Amino acid sequence: TLTDRLSHLVKTMRGQARITETNVQDMLREVRMALLEADVALPVVRDFIARVKEKALGQEVVGSLNPGQVLVSVVHKELAATMGEGISDINLAAQPPAIILMAGLQGAGKTTTTAKLAKHLIEKRKKKVLTVSADVYRPAAIEQLKTVTKQAGAEWFPSEPNQKPKDIALAALDWARRHYFDVLLVDTAGRLAIDEALMAEIRELHATLNPVETLFVVDAMQGQDAINTAKAFKEALPLTGIVLTKLDGDSRGGAALSVRQITGAPIKFAGVSEKIDGLEVFDAERHAGRVLGMGDIVALVEEVTKGVDMAAATKMAEKLKSGGGFDLNDFLSQISQMKKMGGLSSLMDKLPAQMAAKAGQGDMDKAEKDMRRMEGILSAMTAKERRQPALLLEGKSKASRKRRIAAGAGVQIQDVNRMLTQFEQMRDMMKKMQGGGLMKMMKKMGG
Ligand code: GDP
Ligand code: MG
Repeated sequence: TLTDRLSHLVKTMRGQARITETNVQDMLREVRMALLEADVALPVVRDFIARVKEKALGQEVVGSLNPGQVLVSVVHKELAATMGEGISDINLAAQPPAIILMAGLQGAGKTTTTAKLAKHLIEKRKKKVLTVSADVYRPAAIEQLKTVTKQAGAEWFPSEPNQKPKDIALAALDWARRHYFDVLLVDTAGRLAIDEALMAEIRELHATLNPVETLFVVDAMQGQDAINTAKAFKEALPLTGIVLTKLDGDSRGGAALSVRQITGAPIKFAGVSEKIDGLEVFDAERHAGRVLGMGDIVALVEEVTKGVDMAAATKMAEKLKSGGGFDLNDFLSQISQMKKMGGLSSLMDKLPAQMAAKAGQGDMDKAEKDMRRMEGILSAMTAKERRQPALLLEGKSKASRKRRIAAGAGVQIQDVNRMLTQFEQMRDMMKKMQGGGLMKMMKKMGG
């Protein structure tokens, strides 16, 4: 899963300060594999990756997060945005009866969903609902609708197997009008695969009925094939919404992304059981987490951002802008900011358990120890050394200075050298960001 893949990256990318053209390639390859594993169709994956790349590039990495984690959050947000924008219920804005036409392949869940919707409209919207089956090819399908309609507490309009779908639908509409129904749900026949006769038939039904909603019912387990089905139905009909069924199965639900992208129609409902009450309003945010196979990474990112001291960041940005160099005092204040955020291990608590386990508690302890050691080294320096790091980096007396600092902090000379290298890396990064970038990043991440 993406969790497995990214937790590995999250580990290896630690210490890199931003998402760059180079490191983003590795991460996106993992995201791509994970989406394919979740059964998102290939062309959809390509598009999606391109958008994520654009959004992620140059995204600075705040505090204790690393590029892997920031990328996960970008991916999560983009997934949720791609799959929906808020919650969209059934549109009933039509001269009653509002007609809802169900479209989709055989076995997708049209008949079941018709009854679930009837129940939803009766209970949540207080509507008087009539159902009718235009599935003239299978008497059993007509009986099935009758049974589930009863369970839903709606009324069912009888249809004869030898009638034309169009005539049945018109008869039901006439009945619904004369008996003051608010909603007419029209269940239709499906085939095992797309064929022209089927498409012609449902197109004719659509033209005859002019429904206010034309819902495309699609099985979440359909995976890669969902894209072809969705294309065919979109070409045949002006779809107004999608119902994604069988989300209670073990599918990762990648079909949601494909179908939504191909049809452009909102995913309105999710089927979550065979039972009549197994219908939920689709929640894109939550579904994005399912496709990714992970917990609430967004909350984690917000937590980190909150901890960043805006005042200190502003001061630093101004200093850098006015040409002042980034010195070891600034480095020290960066480190203590990270500590203020509650330390790395408390952040790890917010990662999905699986990811946290992979990243390894041992590593976290080590990272925190490293941080404390760096603070120790910095406090063993003189004020002048902190203001003028050059004394330690290129000064004639640098060797003896480092020896003194190492002894003072109770560490090895290599530890001092390592810290100085980290300092130089951060200084270079700050130079590149030229102060302004820092503020921009804070604003972006902090909202
Ligand atoms: P249709 O051919 O499109 O009308 O599909 P049906 O409504 O007859 O459903 C086909 C099968 O899928 C039936 O066995 C349903 O019980 C089952 N089904 C439909 N929706 C769901 C769902 O959300 N979850 C589960 N687990 N099964 C579903
Ligand atoms: Mg059916």
